[in-house]
Amino acid sequence: MISEVDTVVIGAGQAGLSAGYFLRRHEMDFVMLDHSPRAGGAWQFRWPTLTLGTTHRINDLPGMALEESDSSRPASEVVSEYFARYEREFELDVHRPVDVTSVREADATGGGGLEGGGLEGGGLEGGGLEGGGSGGSGLGDGGFGGDGGRLVVESSEGVYAARALINATGTWDRPFWPRYKGMETFGGRQLHTADYRGPQEFAGKRVLVVGGGASGVQALMEIAPVAAATTWVTRREPVWVEGPFDGRVAVARVAERVRRGLPPGSVVSATGLMLTPEVRAARESGVLRRFPIFERVTPEGVVWPDGRSAEFDVILWATGFRAALDHLAPLRLRGPGGGIAMDGTRVAADPRIHLLGYGPSASTIGANRAGRVAVREVRALLGRLDRSGV
Ligand code: FAD
Repeated sequence: MISEVDTVVIGAGQAGLSAGYFLRRHEMDFVMLDHSPRAGGAWQFRWPTLTLGTTHRINDLPGMALEESDSSRPASEVVSEYFARYEREFELDVHRPVDVTSVREADATGGGGLEGGGLEGGGLEGGGLEGGGSGGSGLGDGGFGGDGGRLVVESSEGVYAARALINATGTWDRPFWPRYKGMETFGGRQLHTADYRGPQEFAGKRVLVVGGGASGVQALMEIAPVAAATTWVTRREPVWVEGPFDGRVAVARVAERVRRGLPPGSVVSATGLMLTPEVRAARESGVLRRFPIFERVTPEGVVWPDGRSAEFDVILWATGFRAALDHLAPLRLRGPGGGIAMDGTRVAADPRIHLLGYGPSASTIGANRAGRVAVREVRALLGRLDRSGV
């Protein structure tokens, strides 16, 4: 059974909900799919000690304020409640848990799952998005391959044939584990920040934290008081910045990278690490003394290039995340630079596809804006902007 719909939104985190808000406001035909069990996007999985007060700042979604005064509550709870309220208020019917397994071009021969689908026109009427290769090839000859045809979205609840795709799948599902020689021989426990649930389980242990981002810093500050010892290693010397946090330069840098088709890197890592009073105190106490990266992992611990070694019970890989885009692989969007060349929120080579929360929009404020921009472009693509362009 194939359902035709104008727009499929994959992911109902900050970015997906923002897009949903604007799609609803403009009375567009769309469906939202999310494979998590509850409202909250990736926030629902974040460790309980990440409270509202310890986040960088969670920006309001468009049209409704977060309104939570208790900064000691876990962000996972607060954001899940907020997103659930938001979905109700704006009648965003998120289908969950629904996993999207792949997105591909509709088969040019009419086979591959679209037979009998009755796709009318399928096209780009009023499209007018310059430069995206929106030639509508195959529309007149009965095929759907190439630019301008439908996209086939395969999911655990069935198949959708969409004219536009807003992909907002975040990064949480793709924790990044770097490879180091000997990793598989380590006799202790290895975990990623995605599995971190708070400091209690590290009581009395010798813990190595790997990674120079904000999550590594936060974990060290929480674990150090209960652990037997903590050690921090990073590839590069950390950059400490005085508040207040201004991400504009970092966002611009990431935006330039994705425009050129390079892997985005993280906005947060490009901003540097903020020096709050707690971070300052942790630095003074030695908890945030940083060591360079080791050469290899051994069954007992790690060895540095100069031959020094140390033993650990636990290695916590605070090494970040990558964009969760595996389901888009059949579309072959990645270019020779290793990333996906973007024009704003739109995939440069395909005007039907928007990536939200990717690169410069990988923050709560960036995701909000991306939702508005993407929906405006989708409306243009589908011929749904009125004469004034509104
Ligand atoms: P997500 O919230 O990850 O939502 C993606 C959704 O897509 C999920 O619900 C997931 O279930 C769904 N999904 C994924 N793949 C599929 C699939 N194949 N099929 C169906 N559904 C799928 N930003 C800030 O602005 N302030 C902060 O303080 C801050 N702190 C952060 C702390 C940590 C530890 C991390 C990792 C990030 C932080 N960020 C912060 C970044 C911020 O969380 C995100 O950029 C932001 O929430 C945008 O969310 P999103 O909608 O892009 O993705």
